[in-house]
Amino acid sequence: MNVRKFGSLRRGVLPLWNSILKPRNLQARGLLLGQLSFCIALLFSSSLAFSTFQTSNLTIKYHDPRDKNQLEAVLLAWKNAQTKLLAIGLEPQAVTLETYASAAQFTKATGEPWFVAAVTQGKRIQTQRLGALKTRGILKFTILHEAFHTVQPAKLPRWLAEGLARIFSGENASDPSQTKLEQILATQLNTALEGRNAQISLNQAYWEASRRAQNLLASRGWKSVLNQYR
Ligand SMILES: [Zn+2]
Repeated sequence: MNVRKFGSLRRGVLPLWNSILKPRNLQARGLLLGQLSFCIALLFSSSLAFSTFQTSNLTIKYHDPRDKNQLEAVLLAWKNAQTKLLAIGLEPQAVTLETYASAAQFTKATGEPWFVAAVTQGKRIQTQRLGALKTRGILKFTILHEAFHTVQPAKLPRWLAEGLARIFSGENASDPSQTKLEQILATQLNTALEGRNAQISLNQAYWEASRRAQNLLASRGWKSVLNQYR
């Protein structure tokens, strides 16, 4: 997951599958029930139909009807994310989550490569098909990770935003203890997280960002680290 800054715009990206260009970039991981009321309305965008599911602070637009089966899991992860955000001093916000019917549709809508799982810009999250995320075991992680990006402090450097988002979601639990990137500069790490360093796989870059973020949290705690970048 990356965070790119375009002015005040925050953008998070969660890599999904192996890149064709970077076959080492395999990243795979994983998610019940809310008592939230919902209404489904069939809407039309150009020629593409999508359904909408709405709760108090999350609007889900899904293009594949089968993704209805994943809504419970999304809501549970979202509820979990709200609780965790409050615990670290971040105020949950109303968010729109749009999930596409295929990797091709996702790529067309976001401009991101097919192996990216999700993108967050401001309060808008765009993801691959929910069923695909579920199959790959990363649905819960994706929701938590992107929820963090929707409210992260604006001045977080990219590497730290990605590291914290991965720790927040729990994705880092199975990371290797050594990344072989321990000595690189933060600027190099940022470049690698953007996929612009052919020598470094995205996975490696995410592991290293998480390792550094974890060290910061261990010495200072969430609130101190976050407050520094508000
Ligand atoms: Zn991210």
